[in-house]
Amino acid sequence: MYIILKNSATSQEIETLKSYIINNGHGVIETTDYNVKKIGIMGKNGGVTKESLKKFSIVDEVVKIGKPFKFVSSEFKSEPSIIEVKGRKIGGDNMVIMAGPCSIENREMILETAKVIKENGCEYLRGGAYKPRTSPYDFQGLGEEGLKYMREAANKYDLVMVTEVMDTREIEIVGQYTDIFQVGARNMQNFSLLKELGKTDKPILLKRGMSATLRDFLMAAEYIVAFGNKNVILCERGIRTFEIATRNTVDINGIALLKEKCHLPIIIDASHGTGKRSLVEPVTIGCILAGADGAMIEVHANPKCALSDGDQTLNYKDFGKTCEKIKKTLAFRKELKEIN
Ligand code: PEP
Ligand code: MN
Repeated sequence: MYIILKNSATSQEIETLKSYIINNGHGVIETTDYNVKKIGIMGKNGGVTKESLKKFSIVDEVVKIGKPFKFVSSEFKSEPSIIEVKGRKIGGDNMVIMAGPCSIENREMILETAKVIKENGCEYLRGGAYKPRTSPYDFQGLGEEGLKYMREAANKYDLVMVTEVMDTREIEIVGQYTDIFQVGARNMQNFSLLKELGKTDKPILLKRGMSATLRDFLMAAEYIVAFGNKNVILCERGIRTFEIATRNTVDINGIALLKEKCHLPIIIDASHGTGKRSLVEPVTIGCILAGADGAMIEVHANPKCALSDGDQTLNYKDFGKTCEKIKKTLAFRKELKEIN
């Protein structure tokens, strides 16, 4: 359920209404949807009713949300959300490229990669310090040491840092370094992790689980929002299908549909989505045309020697070319939008 407020509502009146809702056992979430102020009422077990809310003079309408995913839905907010982090904006037509190695391997490599990313006009540095590897015998990441190197590189080149947190016990340490928490595909339905991240104040990049339906995906995002953090960025990274010619199958339908069904920004990660270097650029471009708000791309000085995911990683030169094409794609998408 959510409330549409009258334009005339003062902040004092809004606070009084919010206190009433909270004192009756609900959570609240505020938003502005194309200049209309709304208050979402969270939780089923509180005592607020439609009738009781209508007694407040600032309440214009009380609307029930039909969908199981409520406050991430475009039913609640039809205006696409823009998430701000360190003065950058994710969503809208801003160019968002989150790039970097699969794993932080050492200090020099992350500093060098960060430099290349900056030189290509990108503003987000990705890299894993805590790695969810299929085999326990594979490189597991540098842990806190990796976070330190990555923070140094992000600071040196004024980039926004994005790194994965795998466990509730690591939120504190990862949070000391990162700007955006990444939840990996394998943890999309780790509800304890989602709840705890909901209590943090940093944006969350939520990757789609490899066998998650779009509904599961949105419900996972809803968990984070329901626990207090509205700043969720979705990331399509491919799902498992019967097709084994590529590592995963990127759900381009899903991207277009999510743009209709929810207001959160969506990033395409065609590196994990395809598992194949040569497919990263065309699939990224296709998904941006379908509505994705940005891309995640794995980059390494020498992908063949990367400690993880080398086959899907671009070298610096190819990365530069792909960035150019993404820029042009965004400009072209703008032109397409103008045709009605
Ligand atoms: C990653 O981004 O490094 C990663 C492990 O991705 P995913 O969770 O999508 O497999
Ligand atoms: Mn990877």
